[in-house]
Amino acid sequence: MPADPVTIARELIRCRSVTPEEGGALTYLQGLLTQAGFETHRAVFAEPGTAAVDNLYARAGKAKPNLLFAGHTDVVPAGNEASWSHPPFAGELADGKLYGRGAVDMKGGIACFAAAALDYLGAKGGEPKGSISLLVTGDEESVAVNGTVKLLKWAAEHGERFDHCILGEPSNVEILGDTIKAGRRGSLNGTLIVTGRQGHVAYPERAENPIRGLTTLMTALRAPLDEGSEHFAPSNLEFTSVDVGNATVNLIPGEARARFNIRYNDRHSQTALKTLIERRAEAAAAGHVRYAFEWQPSNADVFVTKPGPFTELAIAAIAEVTGRKPQLSTSGGTSDARFITDYCPVLEFGLVGQTMHQVDESAPVKDLSTLTAIYRRIIEKYFG
Ligand SMILES: [Zn+2]
Repeated sequence: MPADPVTIARELIRCRSVTPEEGGALTYLQGLLTQAGFETHRAVFAEPGTAAVDNLYARAGKAKPNLLFAGHTDVVPAGNEASWSHPPFAGELADGKLYGRGAVDMKGGIACFAAAALDYLGAKGGEPKGSISLLVTGDEESVAVNGTVKLLKWAAEHGERFDHCILGEPSNVEILGDTIKAGRRGSLNGTLIVTGRQGHVAYPERAENPIRGLTTLMTALRAPLDEGSEHFAPSNLEFTSVDVGNATVNLIPGEARARFNIRYNDRHSQTALKTLIERRAEAAAAGHVRYAFEWQPSNADVFVTKPGPFTELAIAAIAEVTGRKPQLSTSGGTSDARFITDYCPVLEFGLVGQTMHQVDESAPVKDLSTLTAIYRRIIEKYFG
């Protein structure tokens, strides 16, 4: 009997693996994969100030090349469960759709690549030509500290090598087969702090209003960062909060702050970007504004997987199954692909993302079988 992605997805949705809880999801997957002949490992990672997180690595075959499928079983909270038409952790089927938290992001995607791998192994009598591995974390939706980044390192230390990776995040925009994500922008958070001199609003000559300096610098920082690149849209700096904290009407405050986030493309490194921003502030301040920057540490660097044979293979598999030629995109937020790219080329392809993180998150049953067929085709072509 072929492995059924809908059954696997329903079982996974029924596990309450709200980040960072394991909720039984990895244990279920591990059982399924072990039964099919995978060698499986669990690894719990922890560090001070974060929750300990459970992770799973499974491999079938010992030979090269090793094709990796990656994903996460943790999900964002359901919010108000009463506002769902179908309970978020029941895995109910209705109107041709599978409902539940994680249906598209990304228990559905995991179910599809697990089903495809099981089906391929079945067809090869349990002896793949090369190896198929699954790397599944429970820490993607939260801080992403005790998940993929550490599991990859753990695997490397245990002699595991990966040749190519498909991350099953919901990459498609409107319809299954429309988009592969082939890179992600970097993300950097900073705070601009302007210091003035507090005083009475009626005697501005005795004070120094930091809000004036802050707005001057903010305007300077709003200038374009670049014009985009071959694979990316222009970088963008967005202010997210302006904070003075002054509740008094006749007081000139002593300090003003503005927080911002930068989504940056491959024209910048984090270091170069910080230098660029600091230089712009310096020029705008012209020696008259006292200011400082605080930069938050970021593990979200920009990366791009340049087109090549693996990308061509994935595009061809998608086209053969759906009749659509996917576009390569680098838009959207960050994902665990930013860690995988340090080990092997990675593409992201999964379900249609429209209902992710929403009430009534759901995936059409038809999409689950189509995505499984695409992954199956990718595996077939990969091992030729
Ligand atoms: Zn996700």
